Amino acid sequence: MSAAAGNAVRITEVGPRDGLQNERTPVPTEAKVAFVDALSAAGFPEIEVSSFVNAARVPQLADASQVFAAIRRRPGTLYSALVPNERGLEGALAARADKVAVFASASEGFSQRNTGGSIEEVLARFGPVVRGARTAGLPVRGYVSCVVRCPYDGPVSPAQVRSVVDRLLAAGVDEIDLGDTIGAADPDDIARLYDGLQGCVAPVATTLHLHDTRGTAVACAARALDLGVRSFDSSAGGLGGCPFAPGAKGNVATSALLELCAARGHATGVDAAAVARAIAPIVQLLRADAR
Ligand code: MG
Repeated sequence: MSAAAGNAVRITEVGPRDGLQNERTPVPTEAKVAFVDALSAAGFPEIEVSSFVNAARVPQLADASQVFAAIRRRPGTLYSALVPNERGLEGALAARADKVAVFASASEGFSQRNTGGSIEEVLARFGPVVRGARTAGLPVRGYVSCVVRCPYDGPVSPAQVRSVVDRLLAAGVDEIDLGDTIGAADPDDIARLYDGLQGCVAPVATTLHLHDTRGTAVACAARALDLGVRSFDSSAGGLGGCPFAPGAKGNVATSALLELCAARGHATGVDAAAVARAIAPIVQLLRADAR
């Protein structure tokens, strides 16, 4: 952290949440705890540990409270949780999450199917959640899904994204996370997206959440770096996807993002070898089940 500090890239590891959420193989709580602990050892500034959503909808993450209770917290790492509503926030607060994330969609079709309400209804639900989190002293991430394309509605315009970002900022979120939920973006889409957000939120104030469905995630991240983005989500082993988004493949792999950052001279503070050690037992577990 010296002259290069302004160039540093912040990586949020989302494998335990966005990664495992899409895996049908039930992963035992102990394995999740070991995964998070191993990721902590790799030095991530933030790990999205789990989600306090309806357990019937996302059975893989029904043990969020148990996982939070058992992990060893490394000073310097934020342990965050996804919360869809006030009930979820209560769970996250009880579990002593360091940060919470709410999620909206830039497309109406995805909003209806993924969050059980229109964009408007979902945004209206955020008010009390964001206020409650901030009263408890927790920072709030605001996810925007489908910032380039929706699996139901097709192309999503930067103007649609901008209107949702405006609303999230007005609701008081601390961080805007832009998600190419189905991995449809190419680098020019990323440039258009940020062009459309000019005067609303600066690239450096956003986090970009890429999926590698078409093998374009690293190229998109490279363009985003050129545009000034310095915060990304990724998943160890490229785990992930979204069970509510047909065609969604894994998140951009943490190792690929680390290689890109290293090649471009961006410090991340994350140890690639430790990430590889963290994901190995999970891959083994998922493979064993696939046989
Ligand atoms: Mg995702």
